[in-house]
Amino acid sequence: MNKSEYKIHIIGGGISGLIAAQVLENSGYHPVIIEATDRVGGRVKTDIVEDCVLDHGFQVLLTAYPAAKRYLDYDALTLQHFLPGAQIFTDKGSTLLGDPLRSIKLLLPTLFSNVGSIADKWKVLRLNRLLKKTEISEIFEEKEETTLSFLKKFGFSETMINHFFKPFFGGIFLEANLQTSSRMFKFVYKMFGEGNAAIPKKGIEQIPIQLKANLKFTSFKYHTRVKYIEEQKIVLENGEDIKSHFTIVATDPNVLIPNLRNQEITWKSCDTLYFKTKGEYRNTSLIGLIAQDSTLINNICSATSLEDDAKTSKKVVSVTVVKDHQLDLEELIQQVSAELERYCNIQVDHFIKRYEIRKALPDLSNIQYEMLPSETQLSSSIFLAGDQQLNASLNAAMISGERAALGVINTLEKGLIVEEFTSEFN
Ligand SMILES: Cc1cc2nc3c(=O)[nH]c(=O)nc-3n(C[C@H](O)[C@H](O)[C@H](O)COP(=O)(O)OP(=O)(O)OC[C@H]3O[C@@H](n4cnc5c(N)ncnc54)[C@H](O)[C@@H]3O)c2cc1C
Repeated sequence: MNKSEYKIHIIGGGISGLIAAQVLENSGYHPVIIEATDRVGGRVKTDIVEDCVLDHGFQVLLTAYPAAKRYLDYDALTLQHFLPGAQIFTDKGSTLLGDPLRSIKLLLPTLFSNVGSIADKWKVLRLNRLLKKTEISEIFEEKEETTLSFLKKFGFSETMINHFFKPFFGGIFLEANLQTSSRMFKFVYKMFGEGNAAIPKKGIEQIPIQLKANLKFTSFKYHTRVKYIEEQKIVLENGEDIKSHFTIVATDPNVLIPNLRNQEITWKSCDTLYFKTKGEYRNTSLIGLIAQDSTLINNICSATSLEDDAKTSKKVVSVTVVKDHQLDLEELIQQVSAELERYCNIQVDHFIKRYEIRKALPDLSNIQYEMLPSETQLSSSIFLAGDQQLNASLNAAMISGERAALGVINTLEKGLIVEEFTSEFN
């Protein structure tokens, strides 16, 4: 049988599914991506509304991600880089905190910032150096504890934890109490220290758009929801059955595979709202953090506008809420607008759009950086990919897709099982 004749299906056209398709194509296979929605990208999507670039939730590419370096062409993405730091807003005003060794602009504001003591700032640099010397594999072999307990043991003060680490990493982990694994904290901190946080100029969806454009032999079935899968069989919501030599599940498998149903993943959620503002938002290349326990807003960021980059972009702001709340849309807009004005001195002109993301990040323990191709194999024909297999990041989604595809290739190229059931598919 010719390689291109194998029926290999990938369920889910998110980042993990796209990478799985690329790796299969590279070895001569022609996979099919089955995607429930109208396009690829999964959680990485962008809309253009009122000429503003609105990502489905605030998310950044960390340019030091090893897998992203292998699979993405950064130049073609036209990345907009953030400065390595943050603007921190409290009821006492705002201050800048950053890595002065990487951006000289941040030297004086960081030294004079009232967030944390001199000892804290020294510890930030010490942690940078320590993690630079630590291999990623070592980080993921270390004993897990919560990020909060790691930071306390490292000696950071309460002020530094509450005013910097909680809002900064709370916005990344989508939970404000830093209960996320210390492995994830160290990995993300290392990535921030070795590269930049960046977003493509035309929005985060440029990442899956680029990955899809590289696929030459993959076919796509959109608006097609899988109901469940069995060995060598995919059953669609519309009742249709598809035969499949190999199936890569590149999404949460627990809902699709009957005997995994009791291992459900819990998900972290967030709300992202976009506003046009009256005045210009000045620090467009810094992430803004509101370091107040009482506020709903966790972080803010300037968003891009297609109209006129220089001026209009400074008038579009994204706001991320991580805390649980019971507010309806109108109450939410009202409270968030009031907080923007009170803490950030930003006056809202009008509300543009809200993204309420229920399944934003999988809540995982015992997180891993990578897995062997053979470890992605659930049964003779079913392989698992998706960030929930490793850790919640674009990098993990890429690695998981790569390894699942290699799992399929290794199985096929060892000449296992396939010959005995090929006739069924002719
Ligand atoms: C708000 C937010 C902020 C984030 N911030 C960052 C960040 O700053 N940095 C970072 O590295 N990562 C971040 N992430 C995480 C990152 O986006 C994910 O790790 C990554 O996109 C996961 O890709 P995936 O392919 O594993 O899954 P998904 O993107 O979830 O893809 C799964 C795909 O499967 C499809 N699907 C599901 N069920 C079915 C079915 N039954 N039939 C057919 N198709 C189906 C879905 O429609 C979807 O397209 C963030 C995510 C969110 C939501």
